[in-house]
Amino acid sequence: MAPALRCPLCRQSFFSGRGHVYSRKHQRQLRTALERLLPQVEAARKAIRTAQVERYSPEHDQCCWCLCCGCEVQKHLSHGNMTVLHGGLLEHLASPDHRKATNKFWWENKADVLLKEKFLVSQHDYTRGLPIRK
Ligand SMILES: [Zn+2]
Ligand SMILES: [Zn+2]
Repeated sequence: MAPALRCPLCRQSFFSGRGHVYSRKHQRQLRTALERLLPQVEAARKAIRTAQVERYSPEHDQCCWCLCCGCEVQKHLSHGNMTVLHGGLLEHLASPDHRKATNKFWWENKADVLLKEKFLVSQHDYTRGLPIRK
């Protein structure tokens, strides 16, 4: 018998092994999870152009959960007493590690290929956009 597979998306163990990711249940969980992350990613992407810098406040210490990497990511980027809104997530999305993890995540979860680009920011777009990077 195949060992049980613990699925972090469904938060359950399954004995169907790799077949599980094809199941309706898993695909539905996957879609919900991606839909939860997407607005944050889109806000970050928008911030490339309309970078908003605010005076730092403890409210800016927020994290969001990157599904692809399975880790917490600082949402905003603080430098001294300034905060670039969404800068932290944006930096994360543009990182090679995130790209690698996203490719793996998409492959492992059989996610919709057409959606993948939405969760990635190219280094090119990123370096062009941020105001605090000269
Ligand atoms: Zn699952
Ligand atoms: Zn990530």
